[in-house]
Amino acid sequence: MPAFPASARSALAKTQQRANLRGATHTIRAKRAQVVAEVPEWEALRVAGADAKDEALTHLADYLEQLEESLTARGAAVHWARDAEEANRIVVDLVRAKGVDEVVKVKSMATQEIELNEALEAAGIGAWETDLAELIVQLGHDRPSHILVPAIHKNRSEIRDIFTSEMGKVGRPAPDDLTDEPARLAEAARLHLREKFLRAKVAVSGANFAVADTGTLVVVESEGNGRMCLTLPETLISVVGIEKVLPTWGDLGVMLQLLPRSSTGERMNPYTTMWTGVHDDDGPQEVHVVLVDNGRSHVLADPVGRQALRCIRCSACLNVCPVYERTGGHAYGSVYPGPIGAVLNPQLRGTTSEIDASLPYASSLCGACFDACPVRIDIPELLVQLRGTVVEQGGHRAESAAMRAAAWVLSDPKRLAIAQRGATLAGRIVGDRTVRRVPGLGGWTDARDLPTPPTETFRQWWAREHADGHAGDEQGGGR
Ligand code: SF4
Repeated sequence: MPAFPASARSALAKTQQRANLRGATHTIRAKRAQVVAEVPEWEALRVAGADAKDEALTHLADYLEQLEESLTARGAAVHWARDAEEANRIVVDLVRAKGVDEVVKVKSMATQEIELNEALEAAGIGAWETDLAELIVQLGHDRPSHILVPAIHKNRSEIRDIFTSEMGKVGRPAPDDLTDEPARLAEAARLHLREKFLRAKVAVSGANFAVADTGTLVVVESEGNGRMCLTLPETLISVVGIEKVLPTWGDLGVMLQLLPRSSTGERMNPYTTMWTGVHDDDGPQEVHVVLVDNGRSHVLADPVGRQALRCIRCSACLNVCPVYERTGGHAYGSVYPGPIGAVLNPQLRGTTSEIDASLPYASSLCGACFDACPVRIDIPELLVQLRGTVVEQGGHRAESAAMRAAAWVLSDPKRLAIAQRGATLAGRIVGDRTVRRVPGLGGWTDARDLPTPPTETFRQWWAREHADGHAGDEQGGGR
């Protein structure tokens, strides 16, 4: 995957995609702002949400053990997976043991992160996404570009074309007279999916939350497809990142207020499904929970960086981000796009690849993401810390050399004075002209103009304006 600026450049050239993204993010953003403004204690809720997640993360090992005990006591089987490969192997083995060659899936970021669909396909098992937007992405052989609205980059006529050409290859075809009316598209998806729901013996889900003290897993969704998967099949396999654990049932009350308002701009989710182990003659009779690390312990080890594990995947930060709005999600090279992707991916995967070293720079540092985040993740702080990590690792060599040169100049008043004289001389030569490109600063001036140097320093200005003998001396040095 190339660095973010290269992918972003080609994304910026897609005019239709930019229009789709702008329309969708602005609509969700306005809805969110309206319903958040209805809650006078919103800030207190944000603090309570952050505190609950911090409590879970600070004592993660204890809460995970408690979760395992609660789940096991209620009839679920718990599996532990160090990484994606192990998690995929566990799920494939469980599905094979049931003797089936297909599963239905609830939308889940964790399963996308570990590329479970690909692993199942390699094992000869069909994995059918049942969320409408995920279905569009899957049928279109595409990748998701938003956490909550994976097909945000597609408009209605593009979706109609995908349904018409692809549905028949994997099940019930779309009607011949399908139009791009939302109701007709939804009907086509409903009929296509219904035959899969009714014959599926195994479902795979993630979980938005896992409550340690009760052993309850929770999925919130808008379409009801999740509830079909979580109740109809005989076997349910839930793939859950270890950071999803919440200490108590009371904490869930806070999260279920924060999440719907932040994500879809709704006061509550249309469907909230909770399952606690196995119950006779009600729901799946076999429940497996795969608890996945896949780099999360590494993130947890960093006292600043671990904030990113508070994320409840609401996508509010994406919808307010000026960078995401223009580039869309594919440029981030991961299932986690936008501001949270820019801090989570480099922590989960390290900063050695081109894309991961570039992600901390995929931000204007405007801070809108922090203001929107329901669990108060200070994304700008994390971005700055990660930029430091990238520079220390030898990435961005030109920037690193420039910073060393700046430190050398700023540590000696005489050097600073000489540099200032040089800069003001350059300012007088350049005059009013805009400097668009400077040899040697290629990457930096490719994307922005060089600020024109001033024609005099602050000290010179002060001396000129206050020529009464009290002004600072240009040569006086940096006190
Ligand atoms: S970082 Fe915050 S705003 Fe962004 S998806 Fe996660 S919880 Fe939502």
